[in-house]
Amino acid sequence: PDADVKVQVAVLGGGPGGYTAAFRAADLGLSVALIDRGEQLGGVCLNVGCIPSKALLHVAKVMTEAAELGEAGITFEAPKIDVDQVRAFKNKVVGRLTGGLEQLAKQRKVQVVRGTGEFTSPNTIQVGDTVVGFENCIIASGSEAASLPFLPEDSRIVDSTGALEVDGIPGRLLVIGGGIIGLEMATVYDALGSKVTVVELLDQLIPGADKDLIRVLEKRVKGRYEAIHLATGVESVEASDEGLKVKFGEHTEVFDRILVAVGRKPNGKVIAAEKAGVNVTDRGFIESDLQMKTNVAHIYSIGDVRGEPMLAHKATHEGSLAAEVISGENVSWDVRSIPSVAYTDPEVAWTGLTETQAKAEGKEVEVAGFPWAASGRALSMGRSDGLTKLILEPGTNRILGAGIVGVNAGELLAEAVLAIEAGLDAEDIALTIHPHPTLSETVGFSAEQAEGTITDLM
Ligand code: FAD
Repeated sequence: PDADVKVQVAVLGGGPGGYTAAFRAADLGLSVALIDRGEQLGGVCLNVGCIPSKALLHVAKVMTEAAELGEAGITFEAPKIDVDQVRAFKNKVVGRLTGGLEQLAKQRKVQVVRGTGEFTSPNTIQVGDTVVGFENCIIASGSEAASLPFLPEDSRIVDSTGALEVDGIPGRLLVIGGGIIGLEMATVYDALGSKVTVVELLDQLIPGADKDLIRVLEKRVKGRYEAIHLATGVESVEASDEGLKVKFGEHTEVFDRILVAVGRKPNGKVIAAEKAGVNVTDRGFIESDLQMKTNVAHIYSIGDVRGEPMLAHKATHEGSLAAEVISGENVSWDVRSIPSVAYTDPEVAWTGLTETQAKAEGKEVEVAGFPWAASGRALSMGRSDGLTKLILEPGTNRILGAGIVGVNAGELLAEAVLAIEAGLDAEDIALTIHPHPTLSETVGFSAEQAEGTITDLM
């Protein structure tokens, strides 16, 4: 059939990867259709991921900080929580951003096609009654929450999307999965007053980050949560009127709600990729080369569906790149490090080579670190529970990686990401004047530590 919409570039999926690709392609003068099945553009990140979680984490942070001001002689009464208003605040933040995207699409004459899209040939996608014909396609269909096969159907068992709805504050909350998403939601519900238990299959929270960073986080959350069970798997869940009876390790306990945060699965199998001849892996990823080209040269893949790490800033970077390649620019993926941040309390942030990775790969590295107990700013904030460290190449002190745990670690990490990208060494950072007194000095002090030039800690 003839296409109803004919474009040079069809983008399948309107998340951060997809909308960035669509906008970039339009800015480069190409005609673009952006296909998404959601009510609002923005994908997981804006609607049910990065942004709503950060709005709720902000609420949690202010509440926790206020409660901890007793040490400075200020006490507040117990907070009154209006969950409907909390939800409304979060929804307003999301609405501002997703509404902005609609405007940006309109300004660029990007045609937004709403509905579920499936390939019908290497040059067409069917969306409801509409056929979108394209010269090039960018697959940006993202990912969705993974589940556990033995869980019963029950409204008290939710994934991250359900938890972000803040449908009441459960008395006892079980979080299955001690990764970034599970722990961010644990941070929110702990602040709101739930008693939180975390069960993690591996022997460390946030597997992937170095142990010394996680120790700082663990120390704080151990004092706040009801329990943390590492190296433990949930075996069964039984739903009854009294609650959710959960068996894990030696325990059988009853919870009011369960958050399942056991990872995400890529949406490679929901787009009829085979009709376009595009390969999909068993797990559902659609692999592509350094120019984002799949095995079919005019079809590209970006974002969560392309591969790990499943992070928004990786998706957006890949999105612009794919658009530039389509427009004829001779560019390809050349990124030295993708930062990871857990917006927990304290935050955990790392980038480039980790110590754990270096050890596993048998790579010699030097490590220079600075404990926040010696940072004037951290102390004055009442939050000296932190650590900044740089991972360096022996002999040259070139920066290969960085890890930070502490309040605002995510913001602080950006300097290290730039340093790695620009091929800087510790001396470059040590000779950079960092504003005093800031937490950013801990990056500078770590570099001075590496150079052996540190004289005064505060
Ligand atoms: P997505 O955002 O998944 O978008 C894909 C879009 O495609 C969706 O709208 C989907 O409905 C649509 N789609 C799929 N199939 C079809 C189809 N057949 N037809 C039409 N439309 C389709 N990352 C960070 O970097 N920082 C964070 O702080 C962060 N926090 C997170 C918190 C939570 C709770 C979650 C769940 C994730 C978080 N992430 C975070 C991850 C981040 O959301 C993802 O990495 C990011 O959204 C990936 O973007 P994407 O464009 O690849 O896909």
